Amino acid sequence: MSQPEGNNDAALRPKTLSEYVGQVKLKDKLSVYLQAARNRREALDHTLLFGPPGLGKTTLAHIIAHELGVNIRVTSGPAIEKPGDLAAILTNSLEEGDVLFIDEIHRLGRIAEEHLYPAMEDYKLDIVLGQGPAARTIELPLPRFTLVGATTRPGLISAPMRSRFGIIEHLEYYTPQEIALNLLRDARLMGFGLADDAALEIGARSRGTMRIAKRLLRRVRDYAEVAGESVIGMERTYSALEKLGLDTAGLDDRDKKYLETLIHRFAGGPVGVDTLATAISEDGLTLEDVYEPYLIQLGFIKRTPRGRVATAHAYQHLGLPVMGHPDD
Ligand code: ADP
Repeated sequence: MSQPEGNNDAALRPKTLSEYVGQVKLKDKLSVYLQAARNRREALDHTLLFGPPGLGKTTLAHIIAHELGVNIRVTSGPAIEKPGDLAAILTNSLEEGDVLFIDEIHRLGRIAEEHLYPAMEDYKLDIVLGQGPAARTIELPLPRFTLVGATTRPGLISAPMRSRFGIIEHLEYYTPQEIALNLLRDARLMGFGLADDAALEIGARSRGTMRIAKRLLRRVRDYAEVAGESVIGMERTYSALEKLGLDTAGLDDRDKKYLETLIHRFAGGPVGVDTLATAISEDGLTLEDVYEPYLIQLGFIKRTPRGRVATAHAYQHLGLPVMGHPDD
């Protein structure tokens, strides 16, 4: 899900694959597919990008269009309610080879999704005119376009939809070093000083997520500026991150509440996700999409068939005794 990042974001967004930090395997593959499509003067195959929010799916869709030298139309699953919405997008402004980016494609309604199949496969759209016995269907030809779909929940994409994507790739969490590299670039472009170790520290506490890192950098910069410092150093970074409530693993108060509830109230699990969600006044989907991917990545929790379980690592991180823990 893409959200506005502040005034400077558009200017800071990488425009080419080479400016796009990390995701090395994905970039390697994509650069071949892009070159092949360019050489053949064909549209790129439909591409599905999946991964947690803020890892750069939207940015990559723009880069794909830029690298192909075509225009991009941006929409999202929830914005396409009726088949007519889809028809308007597909027939209005798409030209040969253009990219249509559908964010949160898992939230596309079933009927709109079914209309999308022939559009993706045969570049045509079936439109029903009139109602009842007088209704007739006309077939509208479409330009050969590339659909780039993004989702945080690939499991919710239906099998027929999935099978129509020629390229299916997932984005990975960034390492602190990769994030630091990008933050140093942002700082350079925005004209302020950022020490290498400070960039790395922010990188380590950003849950491997570029969007979070950029937000933290803006906050740390606020603290540095108000304190009259022209360069963001390590000390300022430490104290600002502490004020923001982030611990050394990048966990915030909500993550800690999740772990503490799992451990203290449910004896470390297993506990069903909905029960856990109710206990911390969240909904199950938010837990699965926002909290859990990073906690799993850190090895702090496991998803088991019987529910969520806290690992020995989580106990250690919270300074709790690990004795008697099933993982011990
Ligand atoms: P998503 O669509 O996956 O939620 P976005 O594409 O909106 O994520 O990315 C969030 C922010 O992080 C944007 O400001 C984007 O420019 C930046 N960003 C994401 N990935 C990268 C990357 N690999 N290199 C540089 N900047 C990135």
